[in-house]
Amino acid sequence: MNKTKGVSGSRKKPPERRCVGCREMKNKAELMRIVRNADDSGFAIDTTGKSAGRGAYICKNAECFKKAAKSGGFDRSFKQKIPREIYAILEGMILDE
Ligand SMILES: [Zn+2]
Repeated sequence: MNKTKGVSGSRKKPPERRCVGCREMKNKAELMRIVRNADDSGFAIDTTGKSAGRGAYICKNAECFKKAAKSGGFDRSFKQKIPREIYAILEGMILDE
């Protein structure tokens, strides 16, 4: 038996978040954070990771975006229906990154 004692948690793990597309846990650095503006004026890509407001994480690829759009992952994360035009804008931003 390989017994380890008292060492759990000593290794630093990068923070992980779940992608709303593939639903896999990924290193935060590999994901993009999308936030709903606090004043409800719309959505934005949060490049600093510190913007206020409800956020959702997604891999930086079109595949995951399509999955999220299809499965309603964003709708769930933001607890509201995301309009089609918002999806189009977000997709553009993701592919632009
Ligand atoms: Zn993903």
